[in-house]
Amino acid sequence: MRRPLVAGNWKMNLDRAGAVALARAIAERAGSLPDVDLLVCPPHVYLDAVGQALAGSRVALGAQNMYHEASGAFTGETSAAMLLDLGCRYVILGHSERRHILGETDQMVEVKVVAALAAGLTPIVCVGELLSERQAGQTANVIRRQIEGSLAGLTAADVERIVLAYEPVWAIGTGQVATPQQAEQVHLDLRTILAQRYNAQAAGRVRIQYGGSVKPANAGELLAQPDIDGALVGGASLKAEDFLGIAAAAEAVR
Ligand code: PEP
Repeated sequence: MRRPLVAGNWKMNLDRAGAVALARAIAERAGSLPDVDLLVCPPHVYLDAVGQALAGSRVALGAQNMYHEASGAFTGETSAAMLLDLGCRYVILGHSERRHILGETDQMVEVKVVAALAAGLTPIVCVGELLSERQAGQTANVIRRQIEGSLAGLTAADVERIVLAYEPVWAIGTGQVATPQQAEQVHLDLRTILAQRYNAQAAGRVRIQYGGSVKPANAGELLAQPDIDGALVGGASLKAEDFLGIAAAAEAVR
């Protein structure tokens, strides 16, 4: 049985006081959602403060990115060990904004995934197609290419330790959510690709989140799909009420 993971990607939002207040508001009510794993991913500069605000709660801390090298002359970058030092358990890798705005390639994502696993962090590896790719009937090919590239160096045992996030780029921050059927189909395609590349056990055990304009109002139907194991939430994760509403929807469909 895969436990749902509802994760908030706060992106480049909030200030220190706002981040701490949001973390506290989520932590206070997380106890009423025992069947859902909860995670927040603040900006790097607020990880320490948010980690302190979450102390003793069942809300995990994660980062939005990391660098694959362990240490050295890499100005502005952050290593897996530094994230662990601040209490992070997860790191989002290959988010579409990093792929499409900052030029991250599957190969760059792959070395980060390998480094995160080696350090003991759980990577949340994001994949998803552009609107033009969906309209051209290329969704399955795009996610296959992203999986093959981003997970190239992984074994079946490694795959069981990651989380995947299917995030259609056209649904991120647009209010245009994938239908439960569209999302479920891609999640099934992802499991088929993993079963072919690795084995059925790994494909069955890996958690696959959906991300893209998830709100409390649409979360129930999405999270009721058999292959959708939680949500990666952007905009709606910036309000405790909305984030917890999505988590409650995940809890309700267990
Ligand atoms: C995201 O950026 O991961 C995301 C899913 O954003 P939003 O929920 O705002 O579409």
